[in-house]
Amino acid sequence: MQAIRAAVRDAVRLCRRVQEQYLIANTKSAGDHKEPVTIADYGSQALICRALMRHFPDDGVVSEESGEQFLQLLSAEQRSQALALIEDVLGGALSETDVVNWLEHGKGKATERSWVIDPIDGTKGFIALRHYAIACGTLVDGQVAGGIVAAPGYADGQGALFYTENGATWRAPIAAGEGERVRVSARRDADEFIVVQSFERAHASKSRMGRARELAGLGDMRILELDSMEKYALVACGDADLYMRLPREGSAYRHKIWDHVAGVALVQGAGGMVTDLDGSPLDFSQGESLPNPGMIVSNGQHHERVVEAVGRVMAG
Ligand code: AMP
Ligand code: MG
Repeated sequence: MQAIRAAVRDAVRLCRRVQEQYLIANTKSAGDHKEPVTIADYGSQALICRALMRHFPDDGVVSEESGEQFLQLLSAEQRSQALALIEDVLGGALSETDVVNWLEHGKGKATERSWVIDPIDGTKGFIALRHYAIACGTLVDGQVAGGIVAAPGYADGQGALFYTENGATWRAPIAAGEGERVRVSARRDADEFIVVQSFERAHASKSRMGRARELAGLGDMRILELDSMEKYALVACGDADLYMRLPREGSAYRHKIWDHVAGVALVQGAGGMVTDLDGSPLDFSQGESLPNPGMIVSNGQHHERVVEAVGRVMAG
């Protein structure tokens, strides 16, 4: 597991380098910002899959990107940029075939344990230099079993690596080093409750979440909006107490497992609660998409009250 965490840390270095080279240095000639995020996405996944191939060669992998797409969707220039970045982080010469093989590793393999990767979660945050995460979770027989979430924007950009081990959740410095154990908060007082939700309007209904908070009697609390699975990490370490993800009206969006597995593991390991909108468990056994329309994540203190309020909001 330490080797996988090290690979996630390498992925952070690669992503930060892409931001420095393409997004910060070039803000004036801000061309197509989709390109840097694409390069970083494949680079990050290649580094994590490389470690999985070495240390867990028989396990399946579920992730957004593939080696085939790398060859088809990226230009030769983008591929060589990605390759150079990976070489830089690993400190040695590589071939494009190495990268393609890593990206393809374990894809579509049905195994008892599988790794669920989001190489850059919160791509809009990554591009806009807000928050993003690099996530790697584990499913065993369709159940969440573990997670690693790197949050480079945590604590004003200091960053942190969150991970589960031995049934607990830990927070470590992002570059290297061991973690300290974290737990969800014990906050109950509605006036002090801290809520997190998506920054992007398109990803969740802010009005429904606002109504649910009011109905639950948690109307006056502090609300932080940020991208990515870092929201799960904030609940896990007690920096936040509630994270809701309610679909916008009429939305048929299907949540993807790579956006949730690692985060759910962190919160559960830290003693918190994660459920569907109706209070039932999330179902990770149905392939790449979740059947659940949304999520309620909390420190457990007012979970039932929030579920009840959300039920009323969703019923119209
Ligand atoms: P967040 O920053 O928490 O909103 O999470 C970013 C993730 O939201 C991305 O990885 C997307 O896969 C996911 N996403 C994209 N579109 C939607 C949508 N319409 N509803 C919910 N989530 C979405
Ligand atoms: Mg994502």
